Amino acid sequence: PPPAEKFEYQAEVSRLMDLIVNSLYSNKEVFLRELISNASDALDKLRYLSVTNPELSKDAADLDIRIYADKENGVITLTDSGIGMTRQELVDCLGTIAQSGTAKFLKALKDNKDAGGDNNLIGQFGVGFYSAFLVADRVTVSTKSPKSDKQYVWEGEADSSSYTIKEETDPQLIIPRGTRITLHLKRDDKGFADPERIQKLVKNYSQFVSFPIYTWQEKGYTKEVEVDDDPAESKKDDQDDQTERKKKTKKVVERYWDWELTNEMQPIWLRNSKEVTTEEYNEFYRKTFNEYLDPLASSHFTTEGEVEFRSILYVPPVSPMGKDDVVNQKTKNIRLYVKRVFISDDFDGELFPRYLSFIKGVVDSHDLPLNVSREILQESRIVRIMKKRLVKKAFDMILGISLSENREDYEKFWDNFGKHLKLGCIEDRENHKRLAPLLRFFSSQSENDMISLDEYVENMKAEQKLYTTLHPTALQVLYLVEPIDEVAIQSLKSYKDKDFIDISKEDLDLGDKNEEKEAAVKKEFGQTCDWIKKRLGDKVASVQISSRLSSSPCVLVSGKFGWSANMERLMKAQSA
Ligand code: ADP
Ligand code: MG
Repeated sequence: PPPAEKFEYQAEVSRLMDLIVNSLYSNKEVFLRELISNASDALDKLRYLSVTNPELSKDAADLDIRIYADKENGVITLTDSGIGMTRQELVDCLGTIAQSGTAKFLKALKDNKDAGGDNNLIGQFGVGFYSAFLVADRVTVSTKSPKSDKQYVWEGEADSSSYTIKEETDPQLIIPRGTRITLHLKRDDKGFADPERIQKLVKNYSQFVSFPIYTWQEKGYTKEVEVDDDPAESKKDDQDDQTERKKKTKKVVERYWDWELTNEMQPIWLRNSKEVTTEEYNEFYRKTFNEYLDPLASSHFTTEGEVEFRSILYVPPVSPMGKDDVVNQKTKNIRLYVKRVFISDDFDGELFPRYLSFIKGVVDSHDLPLNVSREILQESRIVRIMKKRLVKKAFDMILGISLSENREDYEKFWDNFGKHLKLGCIEDRENHKRLAPLLRFFSSQSENDMISLDEYVENMKAEQKLYTTLHPTALQVLYLVEPIDEVAIQSLKSYKDKDFIDISKEDLDLGDKNEEKEAAVKKEFGQTCDWIKKRLGDKVASVQISSRLSSSPCVLVSGKFGWSANMERLMKAQSA
């Protein structure tokens, strides 16, 4: 066969490899995700092309990925039966950067560096095939395309600006179709060649790749084997009675190695929601988020049109830190996949606003690039649209709980997450219409049961029809007992065109003015007021006649534009 031919990398590739090799970064393990995702892409391509050309897959019917970890030698081999590459494709795909994603990455990296940033950025990107050099100092790619009758080997080293291509000649390494990638791990990274570690990584990153991923694992089964008796004992037996001698057995574990299916293939969110049971959704929730309690509600949906994604969202049954936790924006509650490949669960407000960060779930996008980074997420129009839809679905789900027959469910929800929704009133004006119906308060007519604003409004109408003049104590009043309540209500301002009025403030207008009576009262008590004001001096802003009182002679109120007594308490508490 002709000797190996040497090629120089395109300048950008050299730069990229340089960066990868010389950047210390903590996320080395992404190499496996990248290689699996390439294998999965190659299988996807083959599957797609063989629909119209069945000849393509005749050489090997099984579409799968196999990962073999050789612990002793620090070598990982990843084989797929996908579309493979021709010799020219090896040059084009692994010697140049044709991919816009990788090119963008380089640009972002440059911009970041120019701006004085550090190399850490690299950890947030998928760098595709070259991420193999994060852990390997030598990589060989042996590949056979159905378009070619020869199999070729690409070989590259971590600190080199060139690579070689030759024909595969070892008969033991000939494959019918697809690609075998061999990673010769760096001395410090040999630990990755551990079957158990590989299994864990596959489970974490590629659990839902839709082709079977097999890993080479040690297995065992127990069997009974005969054991020789103690020689002394058997001698004794011999002397006694041959026929009475019993055969002794013991249990031993027989070890062997075999391929083990490591992923599940059909992610639950790709299934038809009509065919998934509540128990399956709950199990997926418990398994994915390591929970032991079932969620309060779940929602499984697909969106199409402008952006395409599938998602399952959950409302957890309890707040993770107890109901008094500070609302935490950084959680690992949403797992983002792109075309079934796990991307990240490390979000900071990109997919849900802070006050809804308690929502858990998975989101699988069809429109985002696999190497999507935090920076891309923050700027992406697609992500903004996704966020809007996700928020709407989350509200629908919460509303669903509130409308459930089982009142206890919503009480539980409110107990745990009521504070979050009040925070939403303050922080998310756009969603006031969705938030307000979900709020609950104690009131003067329901001191032990919380009511919704709708229930309040219903009561209000009925009473106003019945009584034209309303005695103040007959009015239902919402109790704002928690520190955040008042700020939340102030942000809402009104509900269904009815303004919230703070009854502890001056100028309370209950709509029962009687001008004649007022004039008379003013005449009678005007001087008294003046006298009280003179005695109290600067301690009060003014002294006025009021119609709000029914059983006490006077009340201290705050000015219309002043702080309420409650706010005053809050401010005092803060400055103390
Ligand atoms: P991307 O996957 O974003 O295209 P990569 O750097 O991961 O970028 O891979 C570069 C290219 O190399 C791929 O687009 C594909 O054409 C080719 N390639 C990589 N791995 C395989 C594989 N296992 N089988 C076939 N082609 C592959
Ligand atoms: Mg790739």
